[in-house]
Amino acid sequence: MEKDVNYKLRGKIPDHFFNYKRTSDILPKDGFFLDTHVHSTASDGWMTPEQCIKWEIANGFHAFVLTDHNTGKNNKPILKLQDKYPEIVIIPGFEWTTIRIHLNFLGIEDFPGRIPMNPNDDKIKEEIEKAKDMGAVVQVDHIPWTVNEPWHRLGKCTHPTREQLLEWGVDGFEINNEMRWYDPKTVIWLENLRKEKKLPRPIFMSTGTDVHNPINEWVSGWTEILLTPEERKNPNWAVIKKALLEGRTRIWIDHDYYMPYEAKQLKLEREKKQQKESSSILESSSGENKESGVIRIDEFEVGMTREFSHTFRQQETETMADLIGDHNPFHYEGDFIKKTRFKKPIVHGLLVGGMISHFGGEIFGPGCLAETIDFKFLKPVFFGETIRAIAKITEVDKTTKRLSFMMECFNKKGEKVTEGRATCIPYRV
Ligand SMILES: [Zn+2]
Ligand SMILES: [Zn+2]
Repeated sequence: MEKDVNYKLRGKIPDHFFNYKRTSDILPKDGFFLDTHVHSTASDGWMTPEQCIKWEIANGFHAFVLTDHNTGKNNKPILKLQDKYPEIVIIPGFEWTTIRIHLNFLGIEDFPGRIPMNPNDDKIKEEIEKAKDMGAVVQVDHIPWTVNEPWHRLGKCTHPTREQLLEWGVDGFEINNEMRWYDPKTVIWLENLRKEKKLPRPIFMSTGTDVHNPINEWVSGWTEILLTPEERKNPNWAVIKKALLEGRTRIWIDHDYYMPYEAKQLKLEREKKQQKESSSILESSSGENKESGVIRIDEFEVGMTREFSHTFRQQETETMADLIGDHNPFHYEGDFIKKTRFKKPIVHGLLVGGMISHFGGEIFGPGCLAETIDFKFLKPVFFGETIRAIAKITEVDKTTKRLSFMMECFNKKGEKVTEGRATCIPYRV
């Protein structure tokens, strides 16, 4: 996962960014298009509820479902905006998110109860029934993505089969997601069942943008809802729901449809600005800087030491893997790790090394801004191990206002597992 320089824009994308209107020329002119899958700031999306609306309008949709992960927090606020945007049908929803499967519950404002991380078959079935009793339409999300998650690859859990899901009562399958996950197997499977008249009920196929960050993502798929001329006159959730349950959808995918010009421009502007900002942080704090009053280099002396300990848990490694996108099999139980010299999963080196940040941020801080850090990873750290980190100041440069220190991390046996060095600028807060 690349670190996104635009991350600061989460929840703060300028509104002018949404002032565009595009549709793919493959789409039928009078079609009615639905997006079944949208994230907002209530979960891990970047757009406010109102921006979700603007983005959907900009990209040629006539209706969309807000489906934040395991929360319906933004459903009420977004529904309040319906009168302001009569040109689009706003539908509340919920992405029921577990490590085994993601399901979109379309048309409900919230879904009560605790959501298990790794539900068993009965639980999934029960939740599908519960959602349907509440009036939701149940869509299976992005199968090719979910079954390729590390948990699944390492055999920690299995995705339910398509047959099971059909039996458990789902209404449709998202066969195209966020431009990347296309599921032709489900298409062929459904078409064969239909031909052989083995489908117990109509099952719809859909595309979902699964939009999170509209700066980096753009639309390439639209679900057309095949409304009758009568329904088309007054489209609302009731008629869309009826059409979905009757399998009246058609999917349009246009891979020859690139990032909107507006999005590219904003991305370029941000990148330029970011470069300027980061060079000015360094300029303003080096040498004869103007803000010497805020630097507190005088508080430090060479030889000063500080220490703290931390126990690394499996959960932290899993979170780290998700954060930095490093799902290396070295960090998970399974056949791979058993065949290595470590035998059991190890904590990310960067996570152990990350202890160095605690010195800069808290112990020598607050307010030490790191300029350079480097590490040596010497020995593995296993789940449950307590590591003692000791930092020692090695240089105090009053001219450049830089502080340098080294950190050594030890396990219970007293073996050195990690070594790090950092230079930082100590600001006063
Ligand atoms: Zn999902
Ligand atoms: Zn999603």
